[in-house]
Amino acid sequence: MSQKEMKFGTKTIHAGLEPDPATGAIMTPIYQTSTYAQTQVGVHKGYEYSRTLNPTRHALEKNIAELENGNYGACFGSGLAAIDAVIKMLNPGDEVISTNDLYGGSYRIFNTIFAKYNIKFHFVDMKDPQQIEAKVNENTKLIWVETPTNPMMNIIDIKAVSAIAKANNTLLAVDNTFATPYLQTPLDLGADIVMHSVTKYLGGHSDVVMGALVMKDEKIAEEIYRIQNSSGGVTGPMDSFLVLRGIKTLHLRMQRHCENGKEVAQYLKNHPKVANVYWPGFETHPNHEIAKTQMKDFGGMISFSLKDDSLEAALELLPKLEIFTLAESLGGVESLASHPASMTHAAIPKEEREKSGVVDSLIRLSVGVEDVEDIIKDLENALA
Ligand SMILES: *Cc1c(COP(=O)(O)O)cnc(C)c1O
Repeated sequence: MSQKEMKFGTKTIHAGLEPDPATGAIMTPIYQTSTYAQTQVGVHKGYEYSRTLNPTRHALEKNIAELENGNYGACFGSGLAAIDAVIKMLNPGDEVISTNDLYGGSYRIFNTIFAKYNIKFHFVDMKDPQQIEAKVNENTKLIWVETPTNPMMNIIDIKAVSAIAKANNTLLAVDNTFATPYLQTPLDLGADIVMHSVTKYLGGHSDVVMGALVMKDEKIAEEIYRIQNSSGGVTGPMDSFLVLRGIKTLHLRMQRHCENGKEVAQYLKNHPKVANVYWPGFETHPNHEIAKTQMKDFGGMISFSLKDDSLEAALELLPKLEIFTLAESLGGVESLASHPASMTHAAIPKEEREKSGVVDSLIRLSVGVEDVEDIIKDLENALA
């Protein structure tokens, strides 16, 4: 069966992978080597130096590319190193349009690193794609989308944004960290580049920091590989092995994250102390219809605010949780809770973040794959 024919759960286990040619080992070995013997000058087995390519990383890059229905994968030392490589495709004077409800670290690298090199970033509310059109000009070279957004769980219509990108001859990159290719495959909706913080759901076990890019187009991929090799922000073979292992259960984990997420969202919605619950599965969610068409299910990421909208109320609740661990990050098998205003989004000025809904009492949950009865009991105790 060709890899393109495989269904998702089969791809997670088999795509890009074959028994090790040297030994038949069924698991991709950890090729812990920096360099490779050449029998004559320039005669080798496809690997010269591990910054350029390493067999363990190569297997993972092929696997992630197949999961995203792309042709080329590139793995980096973190999600931000992957974003860094995308922005390095641009030149001084170029402009980027991004969503205003953005992962804090993405905002920081745009505004504090690349703005210095005279790349201009615009942040707009992409729930309404017309706002993108209002900012597009002849210098716009990239549109950067994150959906669902972090932490407000807004949904951006990838197909609609892609139409704008195509009409204006700009690249479209989608941060697919929250959805994963189990829920949505942006390349199929017209994106040029998919980006992942592999640290989160793809790795899935909170033991690795890694990033990835996936492309369909050969020219874009060549440029990304040139930057990957020239800037050198690559990931190592041990981490590549761990992620290959993690991905083999991605479909099983995501299914449970979605089931648990649904129950938790409904529980919170009916709780008297909860003000708002942000989760794209609600019919009342402003872009629920788009979520329904571009996603397979609604995921396990949920944010909620308290009726007592004080910083103290949130700070008092969080340490009471016992199943949920108070921590940054998301997407692991264990449930995590975080306080965006003081943790992931502390780099964004208070006024900016409150405009997009990141109020002081907002709590973000990454609902894990534990028994949902225990997860809900934990929330019940903490809210009591
Ligand atoms: C975590 C995260 C990133 C950054 O990835 P790192 O692996 O932490 O560098 C980017 N985008 C989103 C949506 C994230 O959650």
